[in-house]
Amino acid sequence: MPAPYDLTRDELAALLPGEPPFRARQVWDGLHARLQRPEEMTELPAALRGHLGEALAPALRQESRRTADNGQTTKWLWALGDGARVETVLMHYPDRVTACVSTQAGCAMACQFCATGQAGFRRHLSEGEIVEQVVMAAREARPRRLSNVVFMGMGEPLANYDRVWAAVERITGELGLSARHLTVSTVGIVPGIRRLAGESLPVNLAVSLHAANDALRDELVPINRRYPLAVLAEACAEYVAASGRRLSIEWALIDEVNDRDADATELADFARPLRAHVNLIPLNPTPGYPVVGSPFGRVRSFRDRLGALGVNATVRTTRGVEIDAACGQLAARAGHGPGSPVRLPRGAAGH
Ligand code: SAH
Repeated sequence: MPAPYDLTRDELAALLPGEPPFRARQVWDGLHARLQRPEEMTELPAALRGHLGEALAPALRQESRRTADNGQTTKWLWALGDGARVETVLMHYPDRVTACVSTQAGCAMACQFCATGQAGFRRHLSEGEIVEQVVMAAREARPRRLSNVVFMGMGEPLANYDRVWAAVERITGELGLSARHLTVSTVGIVPGIRRLAGESLPVNLAVSLHAANDALRDELVPINRRYPLAVLAEACAEYVAASGRRLSIEWALIDEVNDRDADATELADFARPLRAHVNLIPLNPTPGYPVVGSPFGRVRSFRDRLGALGVNATVRTTRGVEIDAACGQLAARAGHGPGSPVRLPRGAAGH
């Protein structure tokens, strides 16, 4: 059965044989503009509501839902129709409400320090499975309005380009979020960045850099072997020129691995010509990586050094650490993993 948010308008209309033509639009608007389940569409005749409740069954079944940060952060673990599992995080801030959504069950990028990478790849999510995460987060956010979506959950968005982009179009066109409030985060899949540069919707791009010399980046982020830094920098420059948007660079500070003065200098040399903004995140602990995050004093001096080298940097406080909802922690514990991971050979998955 297709996910409700995978259906086109015509496919939805085909589920309503014999109904007056306005019904399809009513149901479409209910799903998108009002974030309703068919059971909640009281303007529909009861029998139709019942029928649609089954035909448009949710793609996401809640396995668990946990909150942290005094209720400001919520994390869901969902089971999909085939048993694959993914996570979604909702974060309340004073000035915005952000959903962090998954784009794949598992991930094939194998970044050493990332819990999802450690678990391996299972499959791509469909457009509808991505959009439904946003819908669920927006329902939960009420009475506040969900304002931002970051594609920074499980998976590599640009390795699932077509479905992610279809989701971007539905989230902006039908759910009404602004493209400027959407951020696609990538390990640096160069053909994907080039495609993004050619799109008309001005979404933000974040590149997870973590190392600005090829030897170290080859280790931390193995896709670097296929798309090394010089090639990545070129694609980023193309994106910035084409979109007019600011690029951000994500850098997880790892104790004595990428937090030394020389690392800051290399990062500044990469970021400055791109006028990129750097987000510094002290590494969150994950089971498969023995190194810890940089101590706070080091984080601060790294930021100050970048500033002195002419690069704006912000230290990001992480949300939901105690419920494993923080950056790179989405993956799951015993029995909740993405299920039968298929490890692709290094570098085999980026296209
Ligand atoms: N695959 C995409 C999006 C998912 S990861 C990407 O890599 O950008 C979202 C962010 O969390 C990335 O910047 C990633 O590098 C970072 N991250 C992964 N593991 C982390 C960890 N253990 N601590 C801090 N950040 C981490």
